[in-house]
Amino acid sequence: MIIFGTRSKLLNAFGTQQTCNHCNTGKLNVVYTINYFHIFWIPMFPIGKKGMTQCPHCKQTLTERELDPQSRNYLQSQKGNAKTPLKYFAGLIIIGLLVFSVITINVLDKKGGYIRNPEIGDVYQVKGFDENQFVLWKVTAVEGDSVVFVTHKNNALSQAEINDETVFGKLDADFASSTLKMAKSNIKSMTKNNKNLVAIFRK
Ligand SMILES: [Zn+2]
Repeated sequence: MIIFGTRSKLLNAFGTQQTCNHCNTGKLNVVYTINYFHIFWIPMFPIGKKGMTQCPHCKQTLTERELDPQSRNYLQSQKGNAKTPLKYFAGLIIIGLLVFSVITINVLDKKGGYIRNPEIGDVYQVKGFDENQFVLWKVTAVEGDSVVFVTHKNNALSQAEINDETVFGKLDADFASSTLKMAKSNIKSMTKNNKNLVAIFRK
């Protein structure tokens, strides 16, 4: 069961020199409260701020709406003394951070996820003879913990040549040269040692 709803908390209260026009005795206090939406009492986001006057003598409480225009103006002018603390945005902040971290993890772990769960048709970009030359490997089968690839016939592709056309294009014609089989653990180490595995493409 999720417990949620709205709650109200005191933000600030201070005394004034204004005499209560109800009892003509007490000096009015100004009180600001905040309404916020909560889930399990954790503030999610603020809904609104309310100002009111309270007489310590006769206990009369007047909300902004019930006040005479002069007192209402005063109340509004003092609102700066009742700023909304960041904690009332806690839920929004937490949700924002969660969304952000999930996106970040997904982006960072995409390669790792593809290696753990290879799919036929995945294409790996692997460093070739030197830093600026690449080989493409296409997954043709997954056998237990091993992955079987066919390699692209051009074993010295430049980065500029690696595009959708070469990766997913005329696959059968271009990927016929040879096959190789590699354990997932070895593939994983290719992302660490010299970062030989540059990218994995999936349609
Ligand atoms: Zn009073």
